[in-house]
Amino acid sequence: MNMTLNACSSLKRTFVLSAIGILSGISAARAQQTDTITDHRTTEVYSPVPPVVTPGAQCGDAPSDAVILFDGKNLDKWASVSDGSPAKWIVDNGILTVNKKAGNIQTKESFTNYQLHLEYRIPSNITGSDQGRGNSGIFLASVGKGDEGYELQVLDNYNNKTYVNGQVGSIYKQAIPLANACRKPGEWQTYDVIWTAPVFHTDGSLASPARVTVLHNGVLVQNNFELKGVTRYIGKPYYKAHGPSPIKLQAHGDPSEPISFRNIWVRPL
Ligand code: MG
Repeated sequence: MNMTLNACSSLKRTFVLSAIGILSGISAARAQQTDTITDHRTTEVYSPVPPVVTPGAQCGDAPSDAVILFDGKNLDKWASVSDGSPAKWIVDNGILTVNKKAGNIQTKESFTNYQLHLEYRIPSNITGSDQGRGNSGIFLASVGKGDEGYELQVLDNYNNKTYVNGQVGSIYKQAIPLANACRKPGEWQTYDVIWTAPVFHTDGSLASPARVTVLHNGVLVQNNFELKGVTRYIGKPYYKAHGPSPIKLQAHGDPSEPISFRNIWVRPL
């Protein structure tokens, strides 16, 4: 008896659900009928026309409208962060290598929103572990003379464990990367970054936070992440008003072999 009742209830439920489904279908069809647009041209726009940008010959090569920050020849676009003197990292054979004694370097030009491409190489004879193994970083906006800014971490995590919000591809101590896309030490690796700078009200309060999307070796590792403020080694991130800012590279000062960079360009957006 109970089984029969249960079967009946189940049948009723099925009937009601089917009826709802049919009615929903009818209302959707009616909604479509109320769309009075009949000419495909009504929804086609012809302005503004996107500017023509000639892409680089190879993937990763600078497009025609890029600002070339390092093309292998010199450090004319860079300065020492500490005193603004000419950057003293080593340029040799088309490659830029960290000079840890010279400290951080940053672009002479300031930027707000941009697309950045950069390549780096951890030396094949790298030693050390944890945060002391190929540590550098890209401060997406430099807001001070030390490590102040928003750091996209550079580190060898091919076979090296550390805290996950401090490994390569992290926004240091804020965002764990979505993947570990590390290549082996000795191989060139790429970063492609879309940076949206924070906006501040005139009284210095935050109007909209910074956002960042990062591809590491072509793999998405940060997807429009909303930053909580500037990077802090100890303590929580916070925002302090700033305007257009340089892009800064970190000399971490590890005893292990220093890392190298090449092919750095940016497209202000
Ligand atoms: Mg670092």
